[in-house]
Amino acid sequence: MCVLGLGLIGGSLLRDLTAAGTPAFGWNRSTATVEAASSDGFDVSGDLVATLSRAEREDALIVLGVPVPALPAMLEAVATHAPSCGLTDVTSVKGEVLQLVEAHGLSGRFVGGHPMAGTADSGWDATLEDLFQGAVWVVTTDGAPEDGAPEDADWLQIWCRVVDMAVQVGAVVVPARARKHDGAVARISHLTHVLAEALAVTADQGGALALSLAASSFRDATRVAGTEPGLVRAMCENNREALVTALDETMDLLAEARENLADPHRDISGLVDAGHGARLRYEARAGRVKGGPTNRPYIQLRPGTTGWLDQLHYAESIGAQIGLLEV
Ligand code: NAP
Repeated sequence: MCVLGLGLIGGSLLRDLTAAGTPAFGWNRSTATVEAASSDGFDVSGDLVATLSRAEREDALIVLGVPVPALPAMLEAVATHAPSCGLTDVTSVKGEVLQLVEAHGLSGRFVGGHPMAGTADSGWDATLEDLFQGAVWVVTTDGAPEDGAPEDADWLQIWCRVVDMAVQVGAVVVPARARKHDGAVARISHLTHVLAEALAVTADQGGALALSLAASSFRDATRVAGTEPGLVRAMCENNREALVTALDETMDLLAEARENLADPHRDISGLVDAGHGARLRYEARAGRVKGGPTNRPYIQLRPGTTGWLDQLHYAESIGAQIGLLEV
């Protein structure tokens, strides 16, 4: 495995792969991270060409651990120096990445990934062991071959390697096409970031007393506003269409709540009851606390065999975790 970009996600992945005994090496742009990761005992370089040439020689699966704005230059380098390697990413948007990959002629070797795990911290110092334990890792299925199409055997093999990698670091795999993924994460992640920023600003405008009184509900609801601003912009601005749809729905709900609050003869029971029910449905599926028991459907499938594509799309439609059976 070859991880390009050793920030929170790429660095944590390198830690877990190494701990799992998988041969893994990495590259990072800044010298400070290369030095820190090397002195922590990891196989890391600041020489991109040498790293990609090694990946090509060793048939490594390359993981792009950098944000969207950095991808064009990375893909250019991969196309030049490691053209036959399998390729995946960890980026929070999938449609935009797919387009960039296609523009660089790499879609036949690309399978997208998105670990649904993280913290508000950045860089090698923020990396954590077991960050992905129990987390969902979305693996994209755009480009999946129809049943038994032998010309797509390479893509299928790369797809299985990406699934294996996620499983090795303790994640559970949920398959999705890029467009479906982007629609879903707009609602549960990117919208959360926009609302957290707005909540933080509104509280701040309340002045010193408001900030002094803020307790755990404010802390929880604004946690992701602590994320490095460049990363938030890269996520939200590269998923505009789906995010605008979700934001419109939220603004309708807020406008109605505002009208109801402004009228002393009305109440906000509609929003509160619906929100409470929605949260309970989320808890029933994903668990009440991180690391607690979940209730996701589980589907086992044999990649490339008759009916597997239907199974993949069914798994996507019910948000099921998948497991791979030997072909
Ligand atoms: P991070 O901790 O800030 O790390 C970013 C990494 O990308 C660093 O290694 C940085 O290198 C490198 N990088 C940034 N711009 C670059 C450029 N122009 N050229 C080369 N390298 C560059 O960020 P992260 O949280 O790991 O995020 C990385 C990816 O994971 C993003 O695509 C993000 O959407 C995705 N993701 C994040 C989370 C989360 O919770 N944070 C969760 C899931 C997925 P330097 O050390 O040289 O700056």
